[in-house]
Amino acid sequence: MKDATLATHAGYGYDGERTMSVPIYQTTAYAFEDCDQAAARFELKELGNIYTRLTNPTTEVLEKRFAALEQGAGAIATASGAAAVFYAFANVAEAGDNILVAKQAYGGTTTLTAHTLKRFGIEARYFDVKDLEKMEKMIDDRTKMIFFEVIPNPSVVLTDIDTIVAIADRHGVMTCADNTVSTAILCKPLTLGVDITVHSTSKYTTGQGAALGGMLVEREGLTQKIRGNARYAHFNEPDASYHGLVYTDVPLPPFTLRARLALLRDFGATPSPHNSWLLIQGLETLPHRMPVHSRNALAVAQYLEKHPKVLRVNYPGLPSSPDHALAQKYFKDGMGSGLMSFEVATRKEAQRIADSVKLFSIVVNIGDSKSIITHPASTTHQQLSPQELADAGVPEGLIRLSIGLEDPEDLIADLAQALGEN
Ligand SMILES: *Cc1c(COP(=O)(O)O)cnc(C)c1O
Repeated sequence: MKDATLATHAGYGYDGERTMSVPIYQTTAYAFEDCDQAAARFELKELGNIYTRLTNPTTEVLEKRFAALEQGAGAIATASGAAAVFYAFANVAEAGDNILVAKQAYGGTTTLTAHTLKRFGIEARYFDVKDLEKMEKMIDDRTKMIFFEVIPNPSVVLTDIDTIVAIADRHGVMTCADNTVSTAILCKPLTLGVDITVHSTSKYTTGQGAALGGMLVEREGLTQKIRGNARYAHFNEPDASYHGLVYTDVPLPPFTLRARLALLRDFGATPSPHNSWLLIQGLETLPHRMPVHSRNALAVAQYLEKHPKVLRVNYPGLPSSPDHALAQKYFKDGMGSGLMSFEVATRKEAQRIADSVKLFSIVVNIGDSKSIITHPASTTHQQLSPQELADAGVPEGLIRLSIGLEDPEDLIADLAQALGEN
């Protein structure tokens, strides 16, 4: 089935009352029929709900819908995108291991990998998404994951997904792509051979800035890559914390299974059922909103590109973008999503423009139906050193725009008055 159909139907076939709206199971726990059933559930002999930290029927609809849209084997929802990114690493790496992380990444992913994971003994090795030969040289026996963003927030520099997948497969290393900005509508990384996708569903999925959420989706057939692979011994050996379960021995997607049984159990970044319901509402219209975000963003980018005060516009949907060919290759109809950035001469000028717009709100979020303006160097990327800023593609005069669903003429008029051209 096509995306618009999956987004409205996948994962829900009516429950007992045949409600049209997916029911919100606002519960922490589930009553067992008897002790035998309780024991069978804990032993995984019978799959079923135990406690909402692990599974919830409302959240399950969201997970199934996401897996269907990305053509994945399984999905697991988390309380936020940050939790999903952390789980992606925590599911594979331990002290002494390393992970390869794209330099061009969300600021929170950089602080997680550079500082917090370092304290856990996990080393992040940063690569430039435009120099994948060098990335390959960073791989060694302790490399557990290659992580990149399909459309990096905020630099929007694209990489060649096929090349990353080919390198990773040659070494038997798992790949993980953050598909937050591109969404499952523009890009389906799992069908290109990427092993795992992560999402912040707090952005385009919720669509109206109503709920935080995260998602991990796993590709079909990942078991073959993990089974007998010395890099992923903990997927092949009995898990002492789950009475000897071997994840690659059960007929379930192993990555998301382990993330649920070990990580949700122990870290507990579980979404609230109500947030899952809000995200289901958002997902229904996602296939219809992404083309509008993309069309509006292209119109704004074309305007900015011609403005004398604008040094550079970064938007892969622009025909003049160095990444235009990659956008055409990997994204549905060459759509560029709603995120772009542009550079003006100084930090001061960037801040003056952000303070002068009226329709755009100064917000650190992206992917809302309302347009957003951000000065990354003083907000989302404030914790980064000048070198980290440069590496992330965030010069001081950079302005990030998340283009919403308003009429593009009004957005352009607002930017025109802010830039100083009437
Ligand atoms: C926002 C974002 C995250 C973090 O997600 P939260 O839901 O805010 O925790 C991760 N990756 C990307 C690309 C993001 O834009």
